[in-house]
Amino acid sequence: MTDLHPFIAGLPKAELHVHHVGSASPRIVAELAARHPDSRVPTDPEALVDYFTFTDFAHFIEVYLSVVDLIRTPEDVRLLTFEVARDMARQNIRYAELTITPFSSTRRGIDEKAFMAAIEDARLAAETELGVILRWCFDIPGEAGLEAAEETARLAVDLRPEGLVSFGLGGPEIGVPRPQFKPYFDRAIAAGLHSVPHAGETTGPETVWDALTALRAERIGHGTSSTRDPRLLAHLAEHRIALEVCPTSNIATRAVARLDEHPLKEMVDAGVLVTINSDDPPMFGTDLNNEYAVAARLLGLDERGLAELAANAVEASFLDPAGKARIAAEIESYTTEWLRR
Ligand SMILES: [Zn+2]
Repeated sequence: MTDLHPFIAGLPKAELHVHHVGSASPRIVAELAARHPDSRVPTDPEALVDYFTFTDFAHFIEVYLSVVDLIRTPEDVRLLTFEVARDMARQNIRYAELTITPFSSTRRGIDEKAFMAAIEDARLAAETELGVILRWCFDIPGEAGLEAAEETARLAVDLRPEGLVSFGLGGPEIGVPRPQFKPYFDRAIAAGLHSVPHAGETTGPETVWDALTALRAERIGHGTSSTRDPRLLAHLAEHRIALEVCPTSNIATRAVARLDEHPLKEMVDAGVLVTINSDDPPMFGTDLNNEYAVAARLLGLDERGLAELAANAVEASFLDPAGKARIAAEIESYTTEWLRR
């Protein structure tokens, strides 16, 4: 069998489901932890590997929030954002919609305008210096309730940074019903933002329906349990509502027991527009290239099939048409060139 890793590594890619703080590599986390010595996060990159081993989803959230606590100043925000883009450039990620939870930072006292300036400064630098186009999804941390929803909607609508394209909802799903967030999504959508909540990661397909009907989701974060409802799969396929699938994340959080039980193939077979993503890559010991390799194995893909997956992400993205066409053409010419060798 061909080793697809070299092809994947050079393949121009877009990523639609990846979290800002969750993308902090052990090196960046160690640096931030050293800057804030009162935190209980290890400062040694090797100890961080153990620290990032989760027993269940609740434990993952706990560790994640301890890393969130390291982002305390606009300089921390800027450093994190730009370094994340550097890791993306190394993987030939040309475009990423980074999910940011501004509420986590503003409630810690980071000035909201300074926060926006820091991410925008990093975004522009990433584009010119690294060739990585970044866009933002501001998400509500579901576990923080309606107060967080109100604050996130306000920050998204009133302070709307130039790179902001969408509005999301993350955190635990169990005990956090999606419909209660409808008014906040309504406001964001009225302001021209796209709706991309997480749903059906740790709960059943009814949560995905809630995301579609109450929150008017245009893409679904994870949507793993969608395959338990054929009518839902047909609906997603018919309306080209993409699923942001993150295979390794699903295993790490125990949302799916084993990779060979992952429903990715069922989604594709049902005609759903599937995109491959890394979610919180260093925390899950993965990166986008590895997720493409995992997807190739689960779906039995060759280079052409992988290029189609990459093109799916471009199609489902919120980049402007000219930008989409450019990356799609890059994927096509790279693949044609590769196969001609
Ligand atoms: Zn996520």
